[in-house]
Amino acid sequence: MNPGCTDALVTVRGLAKRYVQKRTWNGAKFVIDALVEANLTIPCGATFALVGESGAGKSTLARCLALLEKPTEGEIWFDGTNLLTLNRKALFPIRRQIQLIFQDPASSLNPRMSAAEIIAEPLLIQREGAKIERQRRALELMDLVGLPSASAKKLPFEFSGGQRQRLAIARALALRPKLLILDEALSNLDLATQESILRLLRELQAGHSLTYIHVSHDLRMVSELDCEVAVMHAGRIVEQKRVSSLFAHPEHPYTQVLLGAVEAAEIFSEEHLVEAHR
Ligand code: ADP
Repeated sequence: MNPGCTDALVTVRGLAKRYVQKRTWNGAKFVIDALVEANLTIPCGATFALVGESGAGKSTLARCLALLEKPTEGEIWFDGTNLLTLNRKALFPIRRQIQLIFQDPASSLNPRMSAAEIIAEPLLIQREGAKIERQRRALELMDLVGLPSASAKKLPFEFSGGQRQRLAIARALALRPKLLILDEALSNLDLATQESILRLLRELQAGHSLTYIHVSHDLRMVSELDCEVAVMHAGRIVEQKRVSSLFAHPEHPYTQVLLGAVEAAEIFSEEHLVEAHR
């Protein structure tokens, strides 16, 4: 955590999201409580993780925090402001401070734009700086995330998966956000690439007072983070504590099942390795 900023950046109180859907075959309505009574506080400069199986409600919570989804109930406080009381105009300057990075940069990055254009685009949308300044900033950001400036004109498909994720991070940083939400952003990457991106994120966090929320089903990856973690199950946060404490003393039965599944997978892969070496 950045020692220079200790106040809460994000506070969520009683947040809920209910989807109402119609069955196509008889038109009957049914509800999905994707998020129920979520409460959490994330200090400025901290790393936070949301874990749970697919369908647990992690992305719904992340999308609500990123203002891409309107919660049905509750409060989201960001840097001292209750966001859900603001109108579109008042939210505009706050949106830039919260950036979301997705699992598959290949689908979130425009395939016809060069790396530099992709990074500079948020600045263009926010009408920030002249073209030459935006280009200069794009090159600075490429350097910051470890992409060679010689590849500024390359298209997304010309980069590796890890480099594309670096590109997505550079784009997200263009508007100098306070909060980065990484929704399964490292899930498609091999272990070595995951580690190098995590290293990059740690360096960026220290230098730019960034707060991170990792949304992940990958407990092994989360175990690498020094952070507070909330375990989600069926739309609810069922347990929340430091990663080390969660792994040492999982209290909720669902957390125990989740960690048990990871242990089983590790034992299996070790046995598998032994087999493979025989
Ligand atoms: P996770 O990110 O943990 O996999 P999600 O937040 O994506 O979980 O989904 C939680 C629940 O909400 C799931 O049952 C999912 O099917 C449902 N859900 C998510 N988005 C929508 C939507 N736009 N419309 C209807 N149901 C949705």
